[in-house]
Amino acid sequence: MFKNMNAFSLQDDLALGKQVSGEIDGNSKEYPVLAEAGNEKIYGYVRGITQKLLNSGQVAHRDQFPWVVKIINDDKTLNAFCTPGGYIYVYTGLIKFLDSEDQLAGVMGHEIAHAANRHSTKQMTKQYGLSALAMVAVAATGEKNQETKALAAQMAMGLATLRFSRDHEREADASSVNYLCATDYNASGTAGFFKKMEGNATPPQFLSTHPNPGNRVKDIEAKAVSMGCKGTNFHQAEYNKMKALLR
Ligand SMILES: [Zn+2]
Repeated sequence: MFKNMNAFSLQDDLALGKQVSGEIDGNSKEYPVLAEAGNEKIYGYVRGITQKLLNSGQVAHRDQFPWVVKIINDDKTLNAFCTPGGYIYVYTGLIKFLDSEDQLAGVMGHEIAHAANRHSTKQMTKQYGLSALAMVAVAATGEKNQETKALAAQMAMGLATLRFSRDHEREADASSVNYLCATDYNASGTAGFFKKMEGNATPPQFLSTHPNPGNRVKDIEAKAVSMGCKGTNFHQAEYNKMKALLR
């Protein structure tokens, strides 16, 4: 019944994203954000990919959300996530794991899609119903008493680790093809990432919040074919150069 309902407004998505990103930026133990100073090139590269996807003309709320990109300096974690309202976080572990730019663009497209399609607040509506709205209302008062702070931190962590539904996974995979198809990238870049993960001994963090809807590699590749996507670029050389900056 609550499948695609959203009790939250677009402003709530924005406010939640701001809240969560504030919590993340203030929690360097759990989320060691890579310093901007000295890492301008790598930040420029990853933000360039984001801009290219945003400029595809396919991303909902492109102009309403800030689409801030930060890199988390943690080589052991194969993950990326995006808060509601478009605050994107990419782990160095994921960047190092991938082989080419179209794969990273695919994963980032998938993350952008979760925010653009407002999956987190739809999921929260489904899980918590109206009590989710009460949480937002409390957080939005901006009162910094102990209780509010604790609640905000709890909500931020909950959102960062919120498990998406398989329907939302399928939708994010499909959106990622839509975005990439409008660029020069190989449009099934995300499939490259999922294929690579299948060969990995330990299941990456990514899968704990992004469950496999089944046949995702095939579905992504089939969609790129049926849309007649023309992009063939992997941008592998540039990607390897960029990865070298992280060593
Ligand atoms: Zn996902």
